[in-house]
Amino acid sequence: MNARGLLDRLRRDCSLTAAELHWIAEAIANHDLNDAQVGAFAMAVCKGNLSVRQRSQFTTAMCETGLRMSWDHLPGPVLDKHSTGGVGDCVSLALAPALAACGAYVPMISGRGLGHTGGTLDKLEAIPGVRVDLPVDALQKQVKNVGCVIAAASDQIAPADRRLYAIRDITGTVDSLDLITSSILSKKLAEGVEALVLDVKCGSGAFMSDHDAALELAHALVTTAQGAGVMTTALITDMNQPAASAVGNAVEIIEVMHLLTQEKVVSSRLRMLTETLGGEVLALGGMAVDPADGARKIAGALADGRAAERFGQMIHAQGGPLDFLERWRDRLPAAPVLMELQAEVPGVVAAIDARILGECVSHLRNGQRYGDRHIASAAGLSQLVEIGQSLTEGQTIAWIHAATEEEARAAAPLIYDAFTFTSQPVTPPPLIKERIA
Ligand code: URA
Repeated sequence: MNARGLLDRLRRDCSLTAAELHWIAEAIANHDLNDAQVGAFAMAVCKGNLSVRQRSQFTTAMCETGLRMSWDHLPGPVLDKHSTGGVGDCVSLALAPALAACGAYVPMISGRGLGHTGGTLDKLEAIPGVRVDLPVDALQKQVKNVGCVIAAASDQIAPADRRLYAIRDITGTVDSLDLITSSILSKKLAEGVEALVLDVKCGSGAFMSDHDAALELAHALVTTAQGAGVMTTALITDMNQPAASAVGNAVEIIEVMHLLTQEKVVSSRLRMLTETLGGEVLALGGMAVDPADGARKIAGALADGRAAERFGQMIHAQGGPLDFLERWRDRLPAAPVLMELQAEVPGVVAAIDARILGECVSHLRNGQRYGDRHIASAAGLSQLVEIGQSLTEGQTIAWIHAATEEEARAAAPLIYDAFTFTSQPVTPPPLIKERIA
């Protein structure tokens, strides 16, 4: 097939056949399309919209650029959860081990930060020694032994997505319903999961900021996944503020450790998302009578330390410290500068632009002053206030974790501007907005 001819037709009328979409997916994976051609493909799909059938065909084609794992003889169901991307969203890190602690098997293939959103893999790599680029046999062995793994797509698993994902990130073609659907589901189909719950984020920090677009994406994901034989539901959840009270790699691992070890009260949003999404997929996989029962099971695994124990085992299996569960405070990188951002006047938090917070953190992380990638993962924001919270003058809005005073000072006004204050009481937006089954 001729790449230029296909791209030309795609730009005009999106009339590509299943065979042509398969050829493109293969050509992305094996570099028969160069970066410019992949970028042009992404842009044309973004602008033109594939049909429902083409979206499914392209998703299958992306999956088939690699292996599809199979899981014979496991004593529990193979389950997973995936989010469409948000800010401060570290749910996967707590949920994979919690599901494993409930008897499920979780081969979670995750992504890196995309646009202003954080990536589960980048967060995991803030833990010294942790590897996410695992060969398929190591990944399968870990799922059998530990119950869960969080790893990257590779040249064996949805390799087309790995390349397309990176090119979308630099070509402004992230927020496309077709590309998000095929990206997420190509990895999930390759995992060989029986049941899947999708967290479709909606709001200022999501790719889909309005409800109708999020609903359309949720329907696209659910129908495409169900059409491919995976029991799937989606929850539309609020992303008008970060999902946890921290944004950044190491600082989000700290949030997860607080949730897993129950040492400290964590953001109620992080806990509720973990329990609710986990409850959904446990019910889908037959491990709970209904989502509420599943949520109680996840809460139980968090409360009695079983989820924490699995997390520790997962970290060690992926090359991290054996004693991470006990010594995580000493093991995580710390930023050289911590700067407090305070409220200039008393008020109630009315709104948060989570996208700005995500962009600021990505800027802090990529600052020139970090020579070392591992130390850069310490950059972030912690102890963030939430919508509806009432603040007195001088009260903390957030702590900025930065490489230098200069970078922290430059970020402070941008972060401050992400918050809108009012003198009136504010009811926070509901966290779980809608369920699509
Ligand atoms: N997560 C993915 O894996 N892909 C996307 O396109 C967005 C979120």
